[in-house]
Amino acid sequence: MSAETTSPWTASVLTLYPEMFPGPLGLSLAGRALGEGVWRLEAVDIRDHAHDRHRSVDDAPAGGGPGMVMKADVVAEALDAALRPDDPRPRLLMSPRGRPLTQARVRALAAGPGVVVVCGRFEGVDERVIEARGLEEVSVGDVVLSGGEPAAIVLIDAVVRLLPGVMGKAESGMSESFEDDLLEYPHYTRPREWEGRAIPEVLLSGDHGRIARWRRAEAERITRERRPDLWAAYGARAANDE
Ligand code: SAH
Repeated sequence: MSAETTSPWTASVLTLYPEMFPGPLGLSLAGRALGEGVWRLEAVDIRDHAHDRHRSVDDAPAGGGPGMVMKADVVAEALDAALRPDDPRPRLLMSPRGRPLTQARVRALAAGPGVVVVCGRFEGVDERVIEARGLEEVSVGDVVLSGGEPAAIVLIDAVVRLLPGVMGKAESGMSESFEDDLLEYPHYTRPREWEGRAIPEVLLSGDHGRIARWRRAEAERITRERRPDLWAAYGARAANDE
């Protein structure tokens, strides 16, 4: 029997702020699915694994400099406690140094058993725990957040909406931005005219072939204008497919 049928997709989040969870993940699509048991969320308080008198989780950086560093022993103990025996889930550390999160990675995570996510705070975590526990650093963009929690919420939200039974229409996950290296075409809804702006005539034509061609052309135009990196990948893939 596959893991998916025995236990739902499970995110274990290690954080100094467990009260930030489920947070936004408790509302809307993700929240309803959480309530229905489609996925599980466990917030582990890293501070519960500090053992000195002051329950300290951080200390001054070796070599000097500003800020504080999360202690290797405390983070490792929290991680070891959160992992089940032979836990197959990827162990991620949210980090601006990490590999940028992509929709392809999100899809791969959604197909697996879940994730274990460590949220950094302060200047980050002691390098030795990253090495010793094989943590994979993942970034949500070239910005610096004050903590890994909002990044973990971004990652989990993106994965959960792809789990079977979470989104209304099965296909609504397929024609979206990034699925084929293209950004999405523009959307319109009623009224037909608003502030002197009309819905493009082709969308009202009822001609599904024309509509599909127009949407593809618009997706290509927007991608070319906004994301030369994606446009190059799209061109290379089209050349390969020929
Ligand atoms: N001193 C670090 C930044 C620390 S920010 C540096 O210069 O790289 C504190 C924590 O926020 C990090 O440990 C990480 O867990 C989280 N974080 C900040 N920016 C992030 C990003 N773009 N993606 C993922 N996590 C991020």
